[in-house]
Amino acid sequence: MPGHHPTDHDRAKRHLLKTGVGCLCALSLAGWPGGNAFAKAGNPGVGLVRPRPGTWFTKAANNRVQCELCPWQCVLSRGQTARCRVRQNRNGVGHTLAYANPVLVQEDPIERLPFFHVLPGTRTLSISTAGCNLACKFCEVWDMALVDPDEVHAYDMPPDTVIDHAKAARLACVSYAFGEPVVFYEYMRDTAERAKAEGLKNLLHTAAFIEPKPLRELSRCIDAANVDLKSFEPAFYRDICGGELEPVLDSLVLLREAGVHLEITNLLIPTLNDDPRMIREMCSWIRDHLGPDVPVHFSRFYPLYQLANLPQTPVSTLDRARETALEAGLNYVYVARVPGHVGEDTYCPGCGDRLIERIGFIVAENRLVDGHCPGCGEPIPGLWN
Ligand code: SF4
Repeated sequence: MPGHHPTDHDRAKRHLLKTGVGCLCALSLAGWPGGNAFAKAGNPGVGLVRPRPGTWFTKAANNRVQCELCPWQCVLSRGQTARCRVRQNRNGVGHTLAYANPVLVQEDPIERLPFFHVLPGTRTLSISTAGCNLACKFCEVWDMALVDPDEVHAYDMPPDTVIDHAKAARLACVSYAFGEPVVFYEYMRDTAERAKAEGLKNLLHTAAFIEPKPLRELSRCIDAANVDLKSFEPAFYRDICGGELEPVLDSLVLLREAGVHLEITNLLIPTLNDDPRMIREMCSWIRDHLGPDVPVHFSRFYPLYQLANLPQTPVSTLDRARETALEAGLNYVYVARVPGHVGEDTYCPGCGDRLIERIGFIVAENRLVDGHCPGCGEPIPGLWN
């Protein structure tokens, strides 16, 4: 496919990156990962937790409650806090400890989420609370996700305040991202419903380790989801992420069937999940179960947290994964976190023309016309207006 291989244009793009625009790009990367740059939400306080009864709890014997939000299905005794750290049995009633107390509130380029087929070049308000229902050894936000909510600074932001901030900043979207939105389900749902009523779009970046019923209900007010498909090996999910693969695959299918715009991120970690055979199987599964038009982002690993001993992902590994995905028939395959890489751009699967050129989180050029290729008229899936 023309345009998928480095050209003079790409070399010029890399040169640009090294010079003026590179400064902008470096600025946009400055807060990553997990930077908390949005200061307008007021001064954060430590231990801002206001427990409130949660949904998806059922009563069990002896004052216990069962949480049916995610596949762990925790049964909690009186006073017990769940493994996700933000759900608790208080006097026999299931509560959430993650409501209106985000630890991350920041304005982001939409490309940072990453969404490459949603409103290119716009910005979004991202929120996240403490807590997570997985325990990835490569967690990039472990200091906010893998801690108790009363250990970290949090903002006092009820759903209406989130919407007010997004509108005041003239943002078109609210994003539930960077931490794991599943564990602040009630806060996300109430915020998303208000955002939808105000004409804002709702974006979700999640590991999608969630039960089908709550995901189906949530999907009514979510416009786009980027799901971390961390590997295609059940053992990787169990040993490295503290989770299970199968529920994530079910979530992907459910989101697709629900009509939510879907993108996938696959972080490639050297020696752990970069086996070409597995990547080929994963891409074939995506093509067969979700369709060839779901954008896939192969993301570069940087050593940190419990995997600080591993090297960063070689660009050659990302190149090979991208080639494998294209050969499997996927139409939109990206390379993330390698600013200036040819795989940051969107190409028309019909004629091969470059449609959107990106440098890091910056959209340098967008040639789409009403979501179509201006050359051959091919419709490009996404939320463009
Ligand atoms: S969301 Fe939390 S409390 Fe509920 S089942 Fe999952 S880990 Fe357990």
